[in-house]
Amino acid sequence: MSNEIPIGSPVRTQAIINRYFMRAKKSLGQNFLVDLTAIKGIVEAADIQPDDQVIEIGPGIGSLTEQLLMAGAKVFAYEVDDNLPEILQNELPKEVNGQPIAERFELMMKDILQADFAADLGDFFDLTKPIKVVANLPYYITTPIIFFLNKAKLKFVSLTLMMQKEVAERLCAKPGTKAYGPLTIAVQTQMQVEIALSVKSSSFIPRPQVDSSVVVLTPLVDKPAIGDAEHFNWVVKMCFAQRRKTLNNNLKPLLPVATERAQVFAELGLEPKVRPEQLSIQQFAQLAQRIPVRKS
Ligand code: SAM
Repeated sequence: MSNEIPIGSPVRTQAIINRYFMRAKKSLGQNFLVDLTAIKGIVEAADIQPDDQVIEIGPGIGSLTEQLLMAGAKVFAYEVDDNLPEILQNELPKEVNGQPIAERFELMMKDILQADFAADLGDFFDLTKPIKVVANLPYYITTPIIFFLNKAKLKFVSLTLMMQKEVAERLCAKPGTKAYGPLTIAVQTQMQVEIALSVKSSSFIPRPQVDSSVVVLTPLVDKPAIGDAEHFNWVVKMCFAQRRKTLNNNLKPLLPVATERAQVFAELGLEPKVRPEQLSIQQFAQLAQRIPVRKS
């Protein structure tokens, strides 16, 4: 098969699968992209410019990697499937824009959740320059990955991530909607979130059971004042403990005295029967300030 056919085309992916007797591993969330429009859509959503430094999580057989390289990015990838280094080495182009692949692509066999970015990337990237993360994520660890990247000491300029559509909707949700909840709030206090494109299950081999979306997360410059993040996120979680109940009911374990709850509601201008999903992030921040900090 000519290497001029992109890896992400169905015919080339199928040929690679046959050549290496591959079986997609469900346990590693392996759904390989075979839709060049979607792959290029991800590269465009990430706004890849020549010499951008990109971390890719899970390159798989290299369909997205190849397009990131073609767009001019330098790619550092984390992967855990031991069968893939040989395939990537054989199938990715040997040269990109006249430069040997080794200067443009590096693979680290390591769980992304164990990454030590400063140590791992230091020889390959200039850590004083911006770094983007781009991935068709293994869906089984989508939220742990987002929280891990958010906590990392290295500050990323953007995260462009393919994920299950339902998770994407929760990340972007507005107050008053069914999808709005603790995950929405924890992420929106840190990042601006936008859905860039939707991807059908027929764009993957094998097809996932769910539809997918590409989300672009950009760290907020002006983060809302939520005080101690751990306390804030705990209060939010408790407020949503029983979604179908009112905020007042959910608050009983945190503020057991009815008159105290009534006073807080009055101070914050909240209706007695308000439901947790109706509160904005600012209102949760005001509420968290009035809840005693949990003793550990
Ligand atoms: N990027 C490829 C594509 O778009 O076709 C593959 C995407 S596939 C949905 C997810 C990839 O993440 C797989 O290659 C899988 O082996 C890898 N992976 C799974 N768990 C991982 C982890 N903890 N750290 C790094 N990579 C992981």
